[in-house]
Amino acid sequence: MKKLILLFIITTFCLGGSAQDLNYAKEVVKTLSSPEFKGRGYVGNGHKIAAKYISKQYADIGLKSFGKNYFQPFEINANTFPSKMELKLNGETLIPGEDYIIDPKSASLKGEFPVVVIREKDLLNKTKLADVVRNSSGKVLIIDETNSEVEDAEDKKTIKEVVDYLKFSPEVPSVATIIYTDKKLTWSGSTIQKPKTSFIVNKKLNLKSISEVSIKVKARLITCETNNVVGYLEGTEKPDSFLVVLGHYDHLGKMGSKMYIPGANDNASGISMLLSLAKYYKENPHKYSIVFIALGAEEMGILGAKYYVKNPLFDLDRIRFLVNFDMAGTGDEGIKVVNGTVFRKEFDLLNELNKQNNYIHSVNIRGESCNSDHCMFYQQGVPSFFIYTMGGIQAYHDIYDRFETLPFTAFEGYSELMINFFDTFE
Ligand SMILES: [Zn+2]
Repeated sequence: MKKLILLFIITTFCLGGSAQDLNYAKEVVKTLSSPEFKGRGYVGNGHKIAAKYISKQYADIGLKSFGKNYFQPFEINANTFPSKMELKLNGETLIPGEDYIIDPKSASLKGEFPVVVIREKDLLNKTKLADVVRNSSGKVLIIDETNSEVEDAEDKKTIKEVVDYLKFSPEVPSVATIIYTDKKLTWSGSTIQKPKTSFIVNKKLNLKSISEVSIKVKARLITCETNNVVGYLEGTEKPDSFLVVLGHYDHLGKMGSKMYIPGANDNASGISMLLSLAKYYKENPHKYSIVFIALGAEEMGILGAKYYVKNPLFDLDRIRFLVNFDMAGTGDEGIKVVNGTVFRKEFDLLNELNKQNNYIHSVNIRGESCNSDHCMFYQQGVPSFFIYTMGGIQAYHDIYDRFETLPFTAFEGYSELMINFFDTFE
């Protein structure tokens, strides 16, 4: 009986411990992607609210700081859409995020305009294109990219160039453009503002029946201070050698006064992994010092990482290995390791650890890719991986990247695998 009770206590304790960690990880994602954090962009200072929250977590966990606090401030430009945005076709109001997004480089515009429509394939026909452009003065130019008949790669490239020209060139007399698409809407950020306005619309419409477009957009190009948030735990045996845990906390923020992009998987989940590892290593000190860098302004062009490597808080040469966590919330198909082919020894080790312990579905290899924060460090010679989870929900840079639907499929196994991996550095 005594044995049974002991077993019961041990099991409960272990389960309790592990469940609590996942609860903490979920709480972090839930908080960072909540409406109060405004998509961690530059409308309503969402990015600052997020940085402050992370610094509070660092303090609660007990991380040290390199300076007087955890913040490393730097300046960026951001094109923002702070006030009410409206797009109406024939009087019908479209839903932001669901039916349309605005091109992030867009300028302000207000008014009601007639329309002119061109099919995507006609962009390759010089006569038709010239006709439409001539006829577009004072109108909204709708480029119909649905049911694309263009397959040739060269043609596709040409079309992209023509569309970019039509959208923003002052030589084109249209007031605005609408790209009418049947592809998923994916928003992004911009540090610049162009002199015209452009939308991407995905909604079942009878284009022929549309005669009038009503637009209300206020765009503000701002310069603001944002932060990297940096803390560390001192190593027990090699305090001058560093392992770095990296992830960006910023996201795309708000599009107008109502809609925001929550960024649960991208990258509240990576920050959640970063904080979970910080908590673990506070309790289980590593031989190496471990630095936790939550970067700002990744979505604006990896700007936080660019700033950090130019202004490192300790010598970059002392980084033994760096892992960038950008999207950690799914995992039905395991993880993908960017730079896996470059740091093959480390990749094989990671893969082997997973095979031995069955933490997650699979560890998959990928080559170099300059698509996230690790790249800036890698270009400076820092040995690094960028890891993201694969499979499951495909929401990305849209209103559907929410906490409520993020599965956390591999999260626990993934963090155990990473701890096991970091622990091999002796
Ligand atoms: Zn990201």
